Amino acid sequence: MRNLFIIGFTLLLGCFTTFSQDYIESQKKNRKKRTEKEIVENKKNSDENKGSEAQNNYKPKSGISVIKVTDSIFMLKGEGGNIVVSIGNDGVLMIDSQFAEATPYILQRVSRLSSKPVQFLINTHHHNDHTGGNKNMIDNGTIIYSHDNVKKRLIEEVERKAQRDQLIAFEQKAEKISKDENNSNSDEKAKESVKDISQFMNNDNIFPMITFSENLTFHYNGEKIIVFHVDNAHTDGDVMVYFTNSNVLHTGDAFINAKYPFIDIENGGSFAGNLNALSKILMIADKDTKIIPGHGDISTIKDVKYTQNMISFLTKRIAFHIVSKKTEKEILQMKDLTKEFDNKGFGDGFISTEKFIKALYKDIAKKYK
Ligand SMILES: [Zn+2]
Repeated sequence: MRNLFIIGFTLLLGCFTTFSQDYIESQKKNRKKRTEKEIVENKKNSDENKGSEAQNNYKPKSGISVIKVTDSIFMLKGEGGNIVVSIGNDGVLMIDSQFAEATPYILQRVSRLSSKPVQFLINTHHHNDHTGGNKNMIDNGTIIYSHDNVKKRLIEEVERKAQRDQLIAFEQKAEKISKDENNSNSDEKAKESVKDISQFMNNDNIFPMITFSENLTFHYNGEKIIVFHVDNAHTDGDVMVYFTNSNVLHTGDAFINAKYPFIDIENGGSFAGNLNALSKILMIADKDTKIIPGHGDISTIKDVKYTQNMISFLTKRIAFHIVSKKTEKEILQMKDLTKEFDNKGFGDGFISTEKFIKALYKDIAKKYK
């Protein structure tokens, strides 16, 4: 299996190197010499365009707070996604790893709850604010589990970053050669020095060791813990984790409490899938279930229903306005549309009201074209 992965990965890398060379060639044809400032600006813009990567701005501050959910389950809240740990005789099972810089704080908090090591870690999806600590956890001896697509997306991100770094290195090199040597062949010489993409690949192992396509069950710390996939919701690799005895459900980012959700369309997320995921929560949970959202406070089915109704209501209203030939701009000006939710602070999170309405408009407008 590992060999297959290595072969697949090498093939992927091969295609990738070719693509990258083509890209450099096309850049070369109509390329003006850029200044260092423009190159940095270019990198910044390209970073900002990646919604998931834009979340990667963690600065260690006060650390991590611990909230007791049940006698054996604790929620760890910091600046990334909510972490849940199951503590017991078998050891520690953890859900999500937040940002890399947070790992020492997280492990310190966990060590106060249990003297046993974190044996297993489950990634609810691939975003960096939930997987950033993966490498540290692997180094710590933890085995990571995720949906197949999480691993696929994490590999894609490493490759994208290498491609960007390769392009930046090429441009800087070409600029330097042309300045220092007044060499008209600077692009050719620069291309030669950056043609091997592997020098830009980050070899840190951040990838889950065990992946699955649908469900997985742990029999751990005296209870059955069911990990299940929800299709194309927040991303295409979302899983939720249900602790059957404790009646605790970690939803990952397929449910965010009291904020407009981020649907990562680029990475396989969809509004329809997100609504299905919320329905799935309501099928599993009862009034006593403690629901841990990807971000936000511990919730109940009431909160999930409210979010579900909010998305359904806005979907219907926007569809009505689209059919009535209203433009996106006109809909964005209808402040009454979102007033009830905005007043509750829904637009104060990662996704503003404007971003949310734009995303929803785009999704609905497709159906009427
Ligand atoms: Zn996320």
